[in-house]
Amino acid sequence: MTGRWVVISTERRKRPSDFRLERHQVTRDAYCPFCPGREDLTPPEVFAYRQSGVRNGPGWELRVVPNKFPALQVEGGLDREGVGMFDRMNGIGAHEVIIETPDHLKTLASMSEGEVERVLSAFRERVRDLRQDHRLRYILLFKNHGGPAGATVEHPHSQLIALPIVPAFVLEEIDGARRHHAQKERCVFCDVVHQELTTGTRVILENADMVAIAPYAPRFPFETWVVPRRHGSRFEEAAQHEYDSLARLLKALLQRVNRALESPSYNLIVHTSPFSEDTTDFYHWHLELMPRLTKVAGFEWGTGLYINPTSPEEAARVLRDVKI
Ligand SMILES: [Zn+2]
Ligand SMILES: [Zn+2]
Ligand SMILES: [Zn+2]
Repeated sequence: MTGRWVVISTERRKRPSDFRLERHQVTRDAYCPFCPGREDLTPPEVFAYRQSGVRNGPGWELRVVPNKFPALQVEGGLDREGVGMFDRMNGIGAHEVIIETPDHLKTLASMSEGEVERVLSAFRERVRDLRQDHRLRYILLFKNHGGPAGATVEHPHSQLIALPIVPAFVLEEIDGARRHHAQKERCVFCDVVHQELTTGTRVILENADMVAIAPYAPRFPFETWVVPRRHGSRFEEAAQHEYDSLARLLKALLQRVNRALESPSYNLIVHTSPFSEDTTDFYHWHLELMPRLTKVAGFEWGTGLYINPTSPEEAARVLRDVKI
């Protein structure tokens, strides 16, 4: 897809018990800024699902608020300019926090399927709203779970950052997908799903709409991709039954990961089409889950190559065989 190589290091072969696993356990926090009753500690909400109560008060089931310390801001014009040989532009964008539940101690694995689906619906609503701003070209939805994955607040939450550019990793995937489509007139993600379902060795879980696989060239041990069976380039255009299936599969996948790897910290990202480009025919939205089991070090920084001590076939087998 991207032309990326990885080193699957059989010499350093690691099974789940060989990692120095650090269980990420959520603890109560009397000063949590995301807990109900502390709505005044966050900027005013831009979106919420609530059963009762008023805006910016308790009674909500899910809240979306701007990040208090945003990486990018909504105000202003793009004003891209050249400065000598360098380019710069204003940090236009959006940085929002999706507070997934009022319950501080829940996780995506312990929420009900309905609650996970509500998180996905909020993702969709925010993307649909923000894509109307024509200064924005891309939105990344992501979740940092646990300190080693970059989380600074434990209360279950995800984030989105909307950007005035299309980032390099996304371009890499899009260019790879476009090349494949130009040669074969097929979507590379559709081809991969078809091939993986035929072989079966790297399939972790599947249901009516979604397939979870250990990708052929994973950068990290137990890296997992969740790909919809039906071709579609935009996450926010999926059908309701696909969000339901995704919620079901995501919960089951995280339960398995927690069981096999002792509830690790992880990053979860959604890759979807840029707004600014028509990728309908060849790009295919998906999720990528990266449990944080190894450290990225000099070799990886220097080369962009990753050394992965667990083969995708073994990772898939371990996650498939977990007893829930
Ligand atoms: Zn909390
Ligand atoms: Zn496809
Ligand atoms: Zn991707």
